[in-house]
Amino acid sequence: MNTLNRQARERLALHLDAYGLDASRPSTNWVNGQLVAGGGDRITLQDPVTDRPLMHYQDAGETLVALAAEAAQGAQRAWMRLSAGERGRRLYRAAAGLIGHEESLAQLESLIAGKPIRDCRGEVERVREMFEYYAGWCDKQHGEVIDVPTSHLNYVQRLPYGVVGQITPWNAPLFTCGWQLAPALAAGNAVVLKPSELTPVTSVVLAMLLEYGGELPPGLINIVNGLGPTTGQALTSHPSIAKLVFVGSPDTGRRIAAAGAQRLVPSVLELGGKSANIVLADASLDEAVAGAQAAIFAGAGQSCVAGSRLLLHEAIADAFLARLVRAVATLQVGLPDDEATRMGPLQNAAQYHRVRELIAAAVAEGAELLAGGDRPAGLPEEARGFYLAPTILGGVTPAMTIAQEEVFGPVLAVMTFRNEAEAIALANDTRFGLAGAVWSQDTAKALRVAHQLRAGTVWVNGYKSISVMSPFGGFGDSGYGRSSGPDGLREYTTTRSVWVETAPSASVAMGYGSGQE
Ligand code: NAD
Repeated sequence: MNTLNRQARERLALHLDAYGLDASRPSTNWVNGQLVAGGGDRITLQDPVTDRPLMHYQDAGETLVALAAEAAQGAQRAWMRLSAGERGRRLYRAAAGLIGHEESLAQLESLIAGKPIRDCRGEVERVREMFEYYAGWCDKQHGEVIDVPTSHLNYVQRLPYGVVGQITPWNAPLFTCGWQLAPALAAGNAVVLKPSELTPVTSVVLAMLLEYGGELPPGLINIVNGLGPTTGQALTSHPSIAKLVFVGSPDTGRRIAAAGAQRLVPSVLELGGKSANIVLADASLDEAVAGAQAAIFAGAGQSCVAGSRLLLHEAIADAFLARLVRAVATLQVGLPDDEATRMGPLQNAAQYHRVRELIAAAVAEGAELLAGGDRPAGLPEEARGFYLAPTILGGVTPAMTIAQEEVFGPVLAVMTFRNEAEAIALANDTRFGLAGAVWSQDTAKALRVAHQLRAGTVWVNGYKSISVMSPFGGFGDSGYGRSSGPDGLREYTTTRSVWVETAPSASVAMGYGSGQE
């Protein structure tokens, strides 16, 4: 008997029960305002802490996806019959519906994703903010009047797509669900969302709370849980889905975009990264050392924006690394429910083994293991899950696999540079372009470097600050399209241009004339 695993299953059952999900046979889909069990193959979730089974559920499958898409179509029409102001008020109330449930949502997320409880609490808070922010946008999405050179009144309406299909990964399931749901609904769409098969539960509870809290039309948010090749593919190929929004790896992103292209449906792709954290010679070392740790070890490195490449000016490299290695030795790796824990396990076995293989490959290619590389010391005997100590690899060169591949784990690849030009060239030498940071006490110099980085987000003297108000997205293999802020809202709308003849008698043009010649 593994006591840690038994306690985790008991806590999970308690929290699921509070939302009407029976842990022994959970109905893990939210379709048309109801909890529904899947009809497909059984999926088992392992406990990230102990590598023992945590819960089982059934794959949703094609039939349930079709029911969800149909419910979404009806709900979207009902949603758009409400005034824009009323939609905003309901989304605001949906956000308020989360109040009082923050702790259960955080506990559920922590248990299944293996994330430190304090991180999960922060993410629940961010989700509430996302709905509050986009609620305010509902009645501020005006069309435009275009000053055309004819006697026409030409105006442009902003329209929702209808039903949007969303697919999310396992590293921050609750956060990602709220991140994409809020703008989609504010723009007037209904959603069918498939979370990762590894983290099915919190999206379902979130949808339920939002629909109840906001009195949203049943079917406006549908969550279908299952595997990519079954439930995921059924979603991307369903004829009612008018737009696809995908958050995940570049390989799957290509498949999603191709599936969309087959039906001529547009996509937004929020994909991976290999972000550079650049420390110039005049940086404040204390702050930059703290920043370098937070950049890569928060979330055990399972973050798309992880600062997985540390680029150090050669004049400070040795002193910086000595400090960083000392600091990392005191980083609290532990059980996710321990308030003191700063880093938990990786979420799943496949990821754990992949990260270990990438570390071994780096060492075989000539990188030097400066810290970590193995299981951390000091964990309870029963915590035999997917734990890996914070790992630092020195002497990395751009040609090494570890300098180019996204690890999505607590592994930092360190490189040095001699001057600004070299730092910029190194930073941009990957196929990704998601994020990056520059540390310097000279703001002009820091901005000169920041403005030359091929990345959708750049921090100066900081890392990982994000806000629902500011656009987020990537270049290259990090994807295309933008989320958050007004740009994120726009991705969920399209336009209709209306031409109204205002002259007493219409002059009809042949071809593409302006109609007035
Ligand atoms: P993944 O690509 O393996 O899976 C993501 C989702 O796609 C899952 O829900 C999966 O079931 C689904 N899927 C897989 N095959 C499918 C198919 N054929 N059709 C439809 N759906 C399919 O990614 P992951 O391992 O879950 O997540 C890690 C990746 O996500 C990393 O690359 C990370 O950088 C990226 N990520 C990006 C962002 C961002 O905002 N840019 C945020 C978080 C994570």
